[in-house]
Amino acid sequence: ARPLLRVEGLVKHFPITKGLLRRQVGAVHAVDGITFDVRPGETLGVVGESGCGKSTMGRLVTRLLEPTGGTVEFEGRDISHLGVGGMRPLRRDIQMIFQDPYSSLNPRHTVGTIVGAPFRLQGITPEGGVKKEVQRLLGLVGLNPEHYNRYPHEFSGGQRQRIGIARALALKPKLVIADEPVSALDVSIQAQVVNLLDDLQDELGLTYIIIAHDLSVIRHVSDRIAVMYLGKIVELTDRGSLYSTPLHPYTKALLSAVPVPDPRRRAKRERILLKGDVPSPISPPSGCRFHTRCWKATEVCRRDEPVLTALRPGHQVACHHPEEAAEAGAGEAAA
Ligand code: SF4
Ligand code: MG
Repeated sequence: ARPLLRVEGLVKHFPITKGLLRRQVGAVHAVDGITFDVRPGETLGVVGESGCGKSTMGRLVTRLLEPTGGTVEFEGRDISHLGVGGMRPLRRDIQMIFQDPYSSLNPRHTVGTIVGAPFRLQGITPEGGVKKEVQRLLGLVGLNPEHYNRYPHEFSGGQRQRIGIARALALKPKLVIADEPVSALDVSIQAQVVNLLDDLQDELGLTYIIIAHDLSVIRHVSDRIAVMYLGKIVELTDRGSLYSTPLHPYTKALLSAVPVPDPRRRAKRERILLKGDVPSPISPPSGCRFHTRCWKATEVCRRDEPVLTALRPGHQVACHHPEEAAEAGAGEAAA
């Protein structure tokens, strides 16, 4: 099937300027040439530490930002440089759920106003029908439909995120980008909200990109996972392969941080602590951007940038010394 979304060589640099004349002295390389697609009905998880460019990627795909380079294709159509008018019809199809359910809901508006806003903006439902639609949506996300007259502060954090989800789903989008949808919530309710997203996907035929800073929350719901580091995708494959045979050292380190509930398995998995912080995206390291923190880095890593390549069908990695190859070819390590 044709991908719903295709992102090719996507770049976003934010210029850094100095002085009154705003002379450009550098740029933040937030997203630096990433390529992936999203198939209809799947969930692509995108994971990486803060500053890896995952949120910027989400904002490029929803076209809240315009790319510096590369293309974003939605249903086969290049939307990279559409203006406000050109994007208007697509605002229905591509929706975003934000991290912070506290600040993304206007505290002075009732739930009815907030969830009904998309209908009123598009002018597609007569006012009498809006209330009905809002109540239907509140029921869909597990809230009491009779609470449409309440204000955000009357709800818990998890309930507020449900309101945000209801608003995003109001216009029956095709693609939903959820940017750390549960990071601001209590750990005890994170799974509930993620499971709600998963149930809604099946019910409404949605396609998701779910962005997260670690693998613990998204591991169960992602069909494929892209691992990002400093503006690049370093590994991209289906969930099963990522967990069973991670090929990139950074992915291995991220996986080692995911809590293992079974104590017998916990003993076998060693925690990999990365040295140092993520380098500045203003002047990323030469060659492989991960080389300053990688325990396997060699001369070639410092010199040549590894290209994201399919080492096996459906399993792409950008590394000169991928894990599996290292284990299989231990004898040739000196070569
Ligand atoms: Fe480590 Fe080299 Fe692979 Fe980069 S290319 S992740 S530095 S082994
Ligand atoms: Mg699913």
